[in-house]
Amino acid sequence: MRLLLVAYPGAGKGTQAAKLAAHYGIAHLSSGALLRAEVTDGTKIGLIAADYLKRGDLVPDELVFEMLSAPVLEAAGHGGYVLDGFPRTLRQAEEAYRIAHEVAGIELQAVIHLTVGRDELRNRLLARAQREGRIDDTEFGITHRFKVFDAETQPLLGFYARRALLVDIDGDQPVQKVFADTTAAIDRLRAGQN
Ligand code: ADP
Repeated sequence: MRLLLVAYPGAGKGTQAAKLAAHYGIAHLSSGALLRAEVTDGTKIGLIAADYLKRGDLVPDELVFEMLSAPVLEAAGHGGYVLDGFPRTLRQAEEAYRIAHEVAGIELQAVIHLTVGRDELRNRLLARAQREGRIDDTEFGITHRFKVFDAETQPLLGFYARRALLVDIDGDQPVQKVFADTTAAIDRLRAGQN
């Protein structure tokens, strides 16, 4: 099973991706979490990515591909994956699509778009800032990441809708209800694909 979660910062991608991974027995690959680990570990990728993460800007595509290609291929051979945060631009999606055409069995089967209103997103991120102190969960960082989403990530939704892979899920509900709606939608979509 190969899934992608697309949503604004704070919409619950990480929470739902972890639950989906456990439920379907697949790997959870979060580009943001992996990039933060690269920074913590002081790797070559981490040293370059640190400033982008801090500003809330997208990390250059080459670094993201370098970091993710091995884990994605590995997971594809072991039951599948839920991608959280990648692809995040049309260019990344087109490149990933091109590669998936060459390597059979890695193309996406469902793309989940979690929808949550701006005010609720902002409240959640500010609450997370208190709890976790993430470097980009500042007023400035949040506003900037919303803008980056509008400019760079929004176009992905049309790309996947045209391929009949996109499912909208109301993310402004209790975690368990979002999860139940998501698995129901995935199972429906997959039943139609078989
Ligand atoms: P959020 O969705 O709350 O911004 P993420 O953990 O998904 O949190 O991403 C955090 C940061 O990691 C982004 O602001 C960006 O700098 C970087 N990042 C994550 N995924 C990608 C990607 N696919 N391409 C470029 N940069 C990325």
